[in-house]
Amino acid sequence: MIGAHRESRTLVTYAVTLIPGDGIGPELADATVVVLEATGIAFDWDVQQAGEATIAAEGTPLPDRVIDSIRRTGVAIKGPITTPVGSGFRSVNVALRQALELYANVRPARSMVGVQSRYTDVDLLIVRENTEDLYAGIEHRVGPDAAESIKIITRAASQRIARYAFEYAVRNGRQKVTAVHKANIMKLTDGLFLESCQQVAADYDGRVAFEDRIVDNMCMQLVQKPELYDVLVLPNLYGDIISDLAAGLVGGLGVAPGANIGERAAVFEAVHGSAPKYAGQNKANPTALILSGALMLRHIGETDAADRVEAAVRAVIAEGKTTTYDLGGSAGTRQFAEAVARLVQLA
Ligand code: NAD
Repeated sequence: MIGAHRESRTLVTYAVTLIPGDGIGPELADATVVVLEATGIAFDWDVQQAGEATIAAEGTPLPDRVIDSIRRTGVAIKGPITTPVGSGFRSVNVALRQALELYANVRPARSMVGVQSRYTDVDLLIVRENTEDLYAGIEHRVGPDAAESIKIITRAASQRIARYAFEYAVRNGRQKVTAVHKANIMKLTDGLFLESCQQVAADYDGRVAFEDRIVDNMCMQLVQKPELYDVLVLPNLYGDIISDLAAGLVGGLGVAPGANIGERAAVFEAVHGSAPKYAGQNKANPTALILSGALMLRHIGETDAADRVEAAVRAVIAEGKTTTYDLGGSAGTRQFAEAVARLVQLA
């Protein structure tokens, strides 16, 4: 069950796993809790440490208890985790994705008044397939001077991600899904991805428009006229690249939220990392994690609360009086979160 909850007569309490993470993560997680609780929704936070601290104490950055907790609650908010350098530890993000079968990586990119960027009217949702393509990691050397990597595309995974994109569009009043591919060259692999998207699109005919773009053309179109696009669905590698491009269109990583979604669990996290040089200074911008929290609210069906959180973040940033250093202000992480929380309460 997604968003496990227990009901009392007057109240639903959502059990949510909270992973504070490393570096600036704990401050951002605190800020996000302040804002989410201002919605009036009751949360039962299951705080689970992971990352640098647990390597020393438990020998791994991702103890099984963290995965068990997410399996139990169905939803997690995760602060960034520093990737250990030069040790045998696997990437926490890849391990979580595999253990929980988080097949969809979802990143909205939306212009905000007060965040400097070249565009004012971008509102994109990037839906990236998270499990296959060249990321399946099947690569090897062929003799000393050549190497090859195998691109895996299946109908099942392609249809699953396309269906996620269309269902999101329907639930959130989106108008159009664009499938992005290179089927003119990779006729079998990307051809199968495109065919799978077309098959799923047929089920939504008349409800959500569908089109496709070749990935190189898509890059040019996004730079020239991003306002023409809505929901994009992509195989893993193109999704990785285009989602950063989209973050750049709206002002960069500091304000970019994200989600990893599976059938039985979902993990919500900012796109940025643990920025160790700002750790513990009450300086970092919590916007991306707070907006990831809003995605979590939407995921568990608390749409009104999600709208209130997003509107409050936008209003505080647009006003410009209580923003963090990266947006030109001098407010601390906590002050920004409290300003957002006050507006959420009033809404
Ligand atoms: P980073 O995103 O942590 O920081 C790069 C720079 O961006 C920072 O120095 C800072 O100037 C700015 N920045 C990032 N987030 C900010 C915020 N919220 N507010 C204000 N400024 C912000 O990238 P990095 O330095 O390449 O990575 C640091 C560590 O984080 C690495 O160990 C990396 O592997 C890890 N990482 C983790 C995740 C994750 O857990 N999802 C994602 C990316 C990187």
